[in-house]
Amino acid sequence: MEKRVFLSPPHMGGKELEYIKDVFASNYIAPLGQFVDLFEKKISEFTASKGALAVSSGTSAIHLALKILNIGEGDTVLASTFTFIGSVSPVTFEKGVPIFIDSSLDSWNLDPELLDSSIKSLIKRGSHPKALILTHLYGQPAQVDIIRDICRNYDIFLIEDAAESLGATLNGKHTGTFGDIGIYSFNGNKIITTSGGGAMVSDNLDYILKGKFYSTQAKENNLWYEHQEIGFNYRMSNVVAAIGVGQIEVLKSRIARKREIFDLYTKFLSEIDEIDFMPEIKGAFGNRWLTCITLKKGDPINLIKKLDQHNIESRPLWKPMHLQPVFKGVTSFTNGVSEGLFKKGICLPSGTAMTDDTIKIVANIIKEHLYSESR
Ligand SMILES: *Cc1c(COP(=O)(O)O)cnc(C)c1O
Repeated sequence: MEKRVFLSPPHMGGKELEYIKDVFASNYIAPLGQFVDLFEKKISEFTASKGALAVSSGTSAIHLALKILNIGEGDTVLASTFTFIGSVSPVTFEKGVPIFIDSSLDSWNLDPELLDSSIKSLIKRGSHPKALILTHLYGQPAQVDIIRDICRNYDIFLIEDAAESLGATLNGKHTGTFGDIGIYSFNGNKIITTSGGGAMVSDNLDYILKGKFYSTQAKENNLWYEHQEIGFNYRMSNVVAAIGVGQIEVLKSRIARKREIFDLYTKFLSEIDEIDFMPEIKGAFGNRWLTCITLKKGDPINLIKKLDQHNIESRPLWKPMHLQPVFKGVTSFTNGVSEGLFKKGICLPSGTAMTDDTIKIVANIIKEHLYSESR
């Protein structure tokens, strides 16, 4: 390809610059302003959650969630092992103890049965988990209805990491809105982007207020700067929110295109039986953020290198947290699923501005590569 094909590059809707100009005209460049309010309103409308808070990143939204739920030193926090580091690093910011739980093959997301048995065995050992951080990977909803019930049963807070799954639903309900707090990310390669940013949503408006407090340095309500607690500088700026307002206007069409891209890959690669596509559980409507496949044989790294020779970006699936050197020695409940997926999986370029022809070219290179390997 003459121009590099990226995994999921930003795709502006057209109104973003106009809104940024409005921001400049009003001189509310920073800190807050009408676009932050509007962006929050649009997020909560879109996801049907009662409240939303716009912040500087998905990672900071998870950090705030932990802070709001009062998770601190020595507290056990369960988490999906098959995820991106930003999902779980905030646990270490607060000196909590992460414990990783593996996936099930039908969703690639957290295995509810393994979750239940892990909680039982932890409680038996005298360590009652305080929260679960559940990731909806690659825009595919986890079995969050069942998982929410398990959390309630054991009195465990549920934080949903829906960084990749904005707009994805399970039985019509948005990922991010099942638990106590949900988070989204708007970093550069997510389904919509603000260049960098995130949001927290909750039906508990007290949590949103607390999030506002902690994300603005925990300043007490006095004229002077009074602090009884330590907070952070995590709020989203008005300029960034203006981009977000432009982007959320096109979110529906982005989801439709992401799903089309998945269908096109499926169609173009249908005669190849060495490939499996990421599944979708019953009742789920994923946003198909990235089209992900696994290879039945061969090393995916060879295919990634082959695509790279054609100036096409692809990536292995996330390396599970329990395999990360930085989490060596961390307690984990594993079943081999995420490890197997990591060894066999590839994320294909899935940018919403990609043409059907480009998808066909990518698919043809994959086909050629797999034919030549099996020869
Ligand atoms: C992107 C991502 C995050 C972090 O979001 P940032 O906005 O980059 O901080 C967290 N979890 C998952 C699963 C992600 O993909």
